[in-house]
Amino acid sequence: MTEPFYSLSISQLAPLLARGEVSPVEVTEQFLERIGQRNQEINAYLTVDADGARAQARDAEARLRRGEGALLTGIPLALKDVLATRGLRTTCASRILENFIPPYDATVCVRLREAGAVFLGKANMDEFAMGSSTENSAFGPTHNPWRRDRIPGGSSGGSAAAVAADLCTASLGSDTGGSIRQPASHCGVVGLKPTYGRVSRYGLVAYASSLDQIGPLSKEVRDAAVLLQAIAGFDPQDSTSVPEPVPDYLEALGREIRGLKVGVPQEYFGEGLDPEVRDAVEAALKTLASLGAELVEVSLPHSEYAVATYYVVAVAEASSNLARYDGVKYGLRMKGRNLMEMYYNTRAQGFGAEVRRRIMLGTYALSAGYYEAYYKKASQVRMLIRRDFDAAFKKCAVIAAPVTPTPAFRIGEKIDDPLTMYLSDIFTISVNLAGIPGISVPCGFSSSGLPIGLQILGPPLGEPVVLQTAHAFEQATDFHLRKPDF
Ligand code: GLN
Repeated sequence: MTEPFYSLSISQLAPLLARGEVSPVEVTEQFLERIGQRNQEINAYLTVDADGARAQARDAEARLRRGEGALLTGIPLALKDVLATRGLRTTCASRILENFIPPYDATVCVRLREAGAVFLGKANMDEFAMGSSTENSAFGPTHNPWRRDRIPGGSSGGSAAAVAADLCTASLGSDTGGSIRQPASHCGVVGLKPTYGRVSRYGLVAYASSLDQIGPLSKEVRDAAVLLQAIAGFDPQDSTSVPEPVPDYLEALGREIRGLKVGVPQEYFGEGLDPEVRDAVEAALKTLASLGAELVEVSLPHSEYAVATYYVVAVAEASSNLARYDGVKYGLRMKGRNLMEMYYNTRAQGFGAEVRRRIMLGTYALSAGYYEAYYKKASQVRMLIRRDFDAAFKKCAVIAAPVTPTPAFRIGEKIDDPLTMYLSDIFTISVNLAGIPGISVPCGFSSSGLPIGLQILGPPLGEPVVLQTAHAFEQATDFHLRKPDF
């Protein structure tokens, strides 16, 4: 019997591939077989591209044989279905794009292909990345591999669940208000949201353009660094991508954190924080201190306005971005007696309830007479939130906090109560409003066996110190080594 390669991290698998102890084709076949047998239990993939994956795997094998392999050559990945893949269905988990086949690849996909990665398929998500539970997918929810009755988080729930369930080695997600970090936390994997602009968003279907960012989900911190290395950097196709050079992210790993100042924001440890999450995060702070980090109190006084601010900015931008789905150029087209009716029918049938709610809220917030009161006001509060972080990072190198107020909730528990659902994003959205990087790294389990994540935040372009801190924590603990009974 051959060894199962699907449970290995990138950092474990890459040397085996490089030494020829296993071939990319063999590894890919193992994954395709496992996905075929197990995906339906959790619905992590919307599309599996067996032929494409096999072709990439053969390519990778040839490359390795020529001695031209790199860190990602032959590594099987899942891509959130919000990333355009040339010739491969990209649905955003929406009926309106159910049969959409992009004519081009997102820049991140181009870069990963160049690095020799293998794309197994497209991962489930909340429709247009709007949600915190993956229940808003038009193609059914993803289930948490740790407990099937729980949500995996969202909106990159399929990407996180696929990593946790060993249905891919690592994956990409997108994070507009927590959609990488929150599902990573709920599924017990690592999830990194880079600085706004650090990774090109060309080919990422836009949700809220001033907040969206692409990033990795992985089994360990080192893998997140490897993936970020491959996808980060300026892209002439994305005018918001940062023209700064990309540092060596692997170099920061393994450096000790003795003397590093870790800020603890009191506002993130108040009312509404589940006691088990609090205990796990406080224990994690002790671990950081035992590694020589210096814990300092910091204050982010405008945190209480973050949810309200985010849900004005995000829905306003979404209403504008989603205007393009009108049944004319691509995607679903319903019949109508005239053009207007065709628009109405297409958008009414094509979008799910949450997306329609947000388009309406956003259109209202941007309409004449209300723009000043809502979008403009929210943009001003956003600036205050950003300044809170600027001030805090004068006192510390990184900030440590919970990712989510509770462990993964039950499927169905919050879906009929949008406000309660929005409140579950309370610890992740400020980071997007401020544009800074953040990671979720496993830091414990609830009494019912659900994973809990620790969030580590850095200043703009502070990915190296975020990765360094997360790696030091990970290496001192064994939470990331626990696997779900799947
Ligand atoms: N849960 C948040 C929302 O629904 C964040 C989603 C995301 O980051 N894409 O908007």
